[in-house]
Amino acid sequence: SPEPEPHRDEPPSKKHAGDVGVVVDHYNMRPDVGVVQRETSPIIGLKSFNNWVKSVLISRFAHPALQASKVGGRGPRGGRGKVLDMGCGKGGDLTKWGKARVAEYFGADIAAVSIEQARSRFHERRNPFEATFAALDCYSEPLSKAFPPAKLAAPFDVVSMQFCMHYAFESIQKARCMLENVSRWLRKGGVFVGTIPNAEQLLANLDALPGDAEDLSFGNDVYKIRFEDRTNRPVFGHKYWFYLQDAVENVPEYIVRWDNFVQLAAEYGLHPVYKEEFHDIFSEHQDHAEFGPLMVKMKVVDSNGESAMDEAQWEAANIYIAFAFEKR
Ligand code: SAM
Repeated sequence: SPEPEPHRDEPPSKKHAGDVGVVVDHYNMRPDVGVVQRETSPIIGLKSFNNWVKSVLISRFAHPALQASKVGGRGPRGGRGKVLDMGCGKGGDLTKWGKARVAEYFGADIAAVSIEQARSRFHERRNPFEATFAALDCYSEPLSKAFPPAKLAAPFDVVSMQFCMHYAFESIQKARCMLENVSRWLRKGGVFVGTIPNAEQLLANLDALPGDAEDLSFGNDVYKIRFEDRTNRPVFGHKYWFYLQDAVENVPEYIVRWDNFVQLAAEYGLHPVYKEEFHDIFSEHQDHAEFGPLMVKMKVVDSNGESAMDEAQWEAANIYIAFAFEKR
């Protein structure tokens, strides 16, 4: 079935004011480098590791939900189930969803340029599943604005939010809108997986800064986080500025307090089944029969077990946690 036309109206920067505009412009302007050029990134080890973590998360929690799907057998090559990738960016996880043998994929992101790149990436090759893409501010607008009702008639088995959910914690209204979009079209027993910055770790680093420090920043050559205030810590809208070499150029992000997130998610029928820091995901799965060899295949480590990350990248890796929730 034909996809809706991509948005071709004014540039997103003019549509989105304030911090959201900064975020949208940043992601829209980042070039879509091919696989070959990606290999030359100074933080390729960290990027590979992040991809491996997402693969582990998808294999452990999304595969079973897809297998149990009632929307089975509809994919071009017999895939099962339906996934929503909210904040999908340039479609970096398309291959992972192909490997998960999903039948239908829906990708939404606020950055219209990224959505066009994701769509092109998808159409560049033959795919074992169908995909629909839409530009949407998923934290201010309902999903039904982007995807026609007929497309949403059968519920999703999985909703995935990778490295993007924290932008919703700018305000309680946005966090609620995001959770409504996650939960509204997710079936009971379906799963919600994601990766977010580790608030505990970030705030511990802030607390560890000298009491008289004027510059409230910490990090290393690979990443830098700067807070604006030491004591003002609102539950929503607790802002910091984030820099990640060759990936994120100093954009505003928001602290996601885990307990607060869990409490709010429960109002939408979403309950946590997994939460782990990235370093622990590494140690927990490095000797696993499937995920250990996958680490070599994805160039996280070489065949001698030598890590592709230097110390600074390894430290940056643990800024994040991965989670899975189940809809009940
Ligand atoms: N999920 C992708 C991945 O793992 O490669 C992209 C992650 S990128 C770090 C963060 C993404 O969140 C960007 O593509 C950005 O445009 C998207 N984003 C930020 N705010 C958003 C919003 N309000 N609605 C939808 N997407 C949003």
